Amino acid sequence: MITTFTSDHFETYQKCPKAYYFKYKKGIRFALAKDTYKLGRSIHSLVDYKLRGLDLSKIEKDLDENTLRHWQNLKDEFLLDFEVVCTEWGFDIPLFDNIWLNGRIDAVFKDGGNYIIADWKTGSSLPLDPDDKYQAMIYMLAFYKAKKDLGLDFGPNNLKFVFVGTNKKGDKKEITCSKEKLLEIEKTLMSMAAEIEGAQEFSLNTKNCKFCDFANICSG
Ligand code: SF4
Repeated sequence: MITTFTSDHFETYQKCPKAYYFKYKKGIRFALAKDTYKLGRSIHSLVDYKLRGLDLSKIEKDLDENTLRHWQNLKDEFLLDFEVVCTEWGFDIPLFDNIWLNGRIDAVFKDGGNYIIADWKTGSSLPLDPDDKYQAMIYMLAFYKAKKDLGLDFGPNNLKFVFVGTNKKGDKKEITCSKEKLLEIEKTLMSMAAEIEGAQEFSLNTKNCKFCDFANICSG
């Protein structure tokens, strides 16, 4: 049987194995705050429409104040002027044995011989340690592994990942790639996936309880 992991599986387990148990073993989900969900969905749709060359002038008139502010922070971002390789690119790739990785990349741009994976973030701040984010690791590995299927030819040093924050104009965090980094990413993901697959007990990490969705049902 194939087991599929997304970046959220790894990030949830890293924050707290017990939270992973509630979310992915028991399947307990809580609805996201309506406004957070709406903002993220709206910004992702707007940028996708723009990259597809659609006219947004009518849609922009109907945006609420906060969504318009985030959109104005992003719409003039110079990345959006580069050649678009793909937008909303979904992937499923094997990691090892029956373990696969799954995700959806917001957009990939081409700048000369370089490829830039972009991820739009509508939260209040960008990750402090972007290199350690499983999302960045998985997306770089997946896109690199898929390059032949996509008809592309480039080396690891020609790839980078960028978090683009929409809460503040020009807010960006870049992660560069290399052959060594891809090997390290693969090793890290394989080790984490094996640990999660083999877990019999899911320990509590009480450092993150304050913002945990499962605080009301957890004994931690
Ligand atoms: S309340 Fe704390 S210990 Fe319990 S699942 Fe959440 S983060 Fe983990």
